[in-house]
Order: sequence, then C-alpha cells, then structure tokens
Amino acid sequence: MIRSSLNVASKIKTTLWKMAIGYLPTLSNLQVRRIAAVSCCPICRADEESIKHVFQECLFTRQILQDLKVASSPFNGERDALTIINKLKSPEEDKSTISVLIKEIKERVRWFALIDFRYVPRKANEAAHILVEEGRRHASPRFWIEEAPIEVEAKVA
Ligand SMILES: [Zn+2]
Repeated sequence: MIRSSLNVASKIKTTLWKMAIGYLPTLSNLQVRRIAAVSCCPICRADEESIKHVFQECLFTRQILQDLKVASSPFNGERDALTIINKLKSPEEDKSTISVLIKEIKERVRWFALIDFRYVPRKANEAAHILVEEGRRHASPRFWIEEAPIEVEAKVA
C-alpha cells in the first residue's frame, strides 16, 4: 500500500506523521513539557491550542475548511475565496464577520519579506477538490501520507 513514487515533500510527510501521533509543537504540548507558560490559542483565544484545535476546531481553521468546502457552511466557495483574497490585498481595515481572521493574517504576513495572495479557480485545483470529496465520505480524519486516493492519482497522472 505504501508507494514512494508519489512526489510529496518529505517535510509534509513528516508533519502529517507528527500530527497523526500528536507530536506537533502546539502550545498545549509545549505547556505539558514546561516550554510554554500558556496554552490558549493565540489566534481565536477560544480554547487550548491542541492538535485537534489547530486542525479542526479553531475559528481560523474552520474558516479555511469552509472556504475549501471541507466543512459545511453557508459560504459560497469560489466567490467567497476571491472575496477573502481581495480583503487580504486591500490596505483598508476589514469590517466584515471575518475581520478578526483577516486582521490576524495581515499581522502575520508582516514577517515575510515577500508574500502574494492569489485566487485559483476550482478548475485549477481539481485534484484538491477530489481529495476533499474523498475526505467528506469519512466520519473521522484521514491522512494519506505515501499515496493519494485512486481518483486523485488518476487526475494528476
Ligand atoms: Zn484557535
């Protein structure tokens, strides 16, 4: 079942493996090891920054998952994705319901020497959407580390 022919960066494989075994340096994990004093999520401040919170529960994550149509939402995927890109590019302060997320992203990008946000229509990333549909068919999170689902591999082959 494991194939090494899939061209996935080893850094991604390592991160997925660490995520699967609960070994990422979240504030929750760092607090247990007495490296961090607080474990509250610095983005949403709603809960402890655990791996589950970072990848499933955080407001920021949920917004991205909704935008990618991984989670159900009242969002209109492509149109709202473009809206978000436009908000990120705008020098004006956002006043919408996702203003907290936009502000947080804008604060974080100050650390990059160069960064560009671009909108990619659904047609340009069909493999990602097939992967999302495959993920939706499972109740619990799935991790494809060495190979992708057959439908995805067929699309990118
Ligand atoms: Zn959070």
